[in-house]
Amino acid sequence: MKFAIVSKGDDHSNKIKATMKQYLVDFDLIYDKKEPELVISVGGDGTLLEAFHRYVHRLKETAFIGVHTGHLGFYADWIPKELEKLVIEIAKTPFQVVEYPLLEVIIRSHSGGEEDRFLALNETMIKTPEGSVVFDVQIRGEHFETFRGDGLCISTPSGSTAYNKALGGAILHPSLEAIQLTELASINNRVFRTIGSPLILPKHHTCLLKPMVDRSLFIAIDHFTNTYTNVKSIQCRVAKEKIRFARFRPFPFWNRVRDAFVAEGDAHLLDERSL
Ligand code: NAP
Ligand code: MN
Repeated sequence: MKFAIVSKGDDHSNKIKATMKQYLVDFDLIYDKKEPELVISVGGDGTLLEAFHRYVHRLKETAFIGVHTGHLGFYADWIPKELEKLVIEIAKTPFQVVEYPLLEVIIRSHSGGEEDRFLALNETMIKTPEGSVVFDVQIRGEHFETFRGDGLCISTPSGSTAYNKALGGAILHPSLEAIQLTELASINNRVFRTIGSPLILPKHHTCLLKPMVDRSLFIAIDHFTNTYTNVKSIQCRVAKEKIRFARFRPFPFWNRVRDAFVAEGDAHLLDERSL
């Protein structure tokens, strides 16, 4: 099997990368940065996002796995202490694959012709450096609302625990093929009105955002941000592509959520009860 390793770049992660690479090569696996079947990310979620975008052109052939070095590591479920165990698993066992939905974002410009297409693992976020954004929000080709405010975030189920969560969005199980639209500080008064609640759209329900005033836009796709001018529309929907994660042991999504967000809180409650 061919594999590649993407490191966060700090000394600790680089060391782990070097050790893993050596072990796996000793097990006769082939290190191939160009066409890996397994991509190991060593770092945090940011590193996994980086690895995803580096190999986004070969999602069908590639599975991802994360080892986390001192960060939250929501996507990365192996810790450096387990390195040897993981290496043996990778070398000896055919892995199970779980697939998570992705978000497709198409940005079209007024100057016509060209369009940019992106896949996001977490979300797209649209803001402006010039005051408020004003969007005609269409769902399935019908006008839904006129949004005025700081911006909008459209996330995947696995991205629902990232920025979306900070915006008051729901956490969605990644077996749901859906996207979630959340608001960033919408203006709501007698004159301007938005729904105010996060919306969860199923597959095939496209959300189209049409800027109604000519502002430059900051459009983030996961951890990358770009500035756009002259944007005609931003189209979002569940992508036909999926990300494949290699699983060598079960780690259910809700356990991941609990461990990332509530585990210590529970321990604290137990301490109080035992007083
Ligand atoms: P970062 O500033 O390190 O990310 C912020 C935090 O979000 C980090 O703790 C990161 O984990 C965590 N994270 C990333 N994806 C997650 C997911 N799917 N579920 C739960 N937590 C997640 O920047 P980054 O590492 O390049 O990651 C970019 C992402 O950060 C963006 O896609 C956005 O979703 C998120 N973000 C969130 C906020 C917020 O919550 N207010 C603000 C900015 C960015 P690691 O420490 O393991 O990297
Ligand atoms: Mn990070």
